[in-house]
Order: sequence, then structure tokens, then C-alpha cells
Amino acid sequence: MDKRQKTIIGRLAKEYADARSALQYSNPFELLIATILSAQCTDKRVNVITARLFPRYGSPAAFADMPAAELEKLIRDCGLFHAKAKNIKAACRMLVDKFAGKVPGGMDDLVSLPGVGRKTANVVLSQAFGVPAIAVDTHVFRVSHRLGLAAGADAEKTERELQELLPRQSWSAAHHWLIWHGRLICRARNPLCGKCLLADLCRSEDKKEK
Ligand code: SF4
Repeated sequence: MDKRQKTIIGRLAKEYADARSALQYSNPFELLIATILSAQCTDKRVNVITARLFPRYGSPAAFADMPAAELEKLIRDCGLFHAKAKNIKAACRMLVDKFAGKVPGGMDDLVSLPGVGRKTANVVLSQAFGVPAIAVDTHVFRVSHRLGLAAGADAEKTERELQELLPRQSWSAAHHWLIWHGRLICRARNPLCGKCLLADLCRSEDKKEK
């Protein structure tokens, strides 16, 4: 890590010291379902959906046995509901049949579940099992590239670069720092560079001069 990157990380860590996931869940299974639902949907909207979903359907068996049309109706507001319902039902069936109804705590097992990619698996590993992990979503990808912390062409390469750059114990926190900076300041279309605490260090072509 060079001096510029070190300063960037230090400032982000201080600014977003309290950053946490906005998704509401009370166990690894609920986190898994909420994270699948969060694809291309806001955490706020997912929380509204899961607040009416989890009290009625609280286990993998309950989801696996639920008619697909019923699940689609309950998650319709979060977009991509047809694909999400199909994946959730198939993942829950696999949890029941292969993992004794429990969410597994390993990357290989997690990504074997339908609809679960590395991003979702990393969120579950880090937040439900306390395993250091960097889930690379659209914010983490964009912000880390703009700041010159990573250059890989895809999420997996970016994840590896960030892992190499950052100490293992800060991987999970760094995921939140980058997400929150991306949501609040370094937005995709109109980054608020005038308010950015990293403007003096940012060399991105997307940086807007005042
Ligand atoms: S200066 Fe602009 S582009 Fe660079 S990190 Fe800050 S908000 Fe993003």
C-alpha cells in the first residue's frame, strides 16, 4: 500500500467508523434471504418486505414448501421478483436437503446455493459468521476503482486486489466504508466531489472540479 492509499484508507476508516449494514435480520438465514432480495433494490425496501415475510415464513423448510406464486406476491416490490422467488425456493430446498436446514459457513457451500454468488456469500460470511470478507457490490467496485485502490476488470479480481491491499482484520469494515462513501458521496452519476474528504487524493477521470 502506498502513502496515498494509506491516507485514503485512514480517512475512510475514521469517517465511516460506525458504518454497518442497513439490512435487518436476526439470524444467518434471514441475512441470506435479505441479501438475495437486495440485488438491485434498496435496503430500506428490503426491510419493509422482510418485516412482513419473516414472521410468517421463518425457516428454509417454510420457504421451500411455499407456493412460488405466494412468494412472488410477497416480494414483488423489490424487483426481479420472479427470478428471486425461484432462487430463494431452490436455495431453501437445498438448505433442507443438503445442509440440515442450516446456512453453511463456508464459501464453497454458500456459492453452491442457487442465486448465491461471491458477493452474497461474502456478506453472509462476514456479517453472520464473523469471517473477514470483502463483498464487492456496485459501490465497492466503483469507489475502489475511482480511488485507485483496485483496477481489476471484474468483482472477483477487485475483491482479490482489496484483500491484498488491506489488512485481513479490516476487510469486513472496509466493505462498509466503501459502500457508504459510494452511497453518500461518490455516487455513480453525480459524485459529490465538492463534499468529498478524498478529493485532494482522488485521480479519477470522474472527479468533478468545483
Ligand atoms: S473526489 Fe469525486 S470521484 Fe473522487 S472519490 Fe471523491 S466523490 Fe468520488
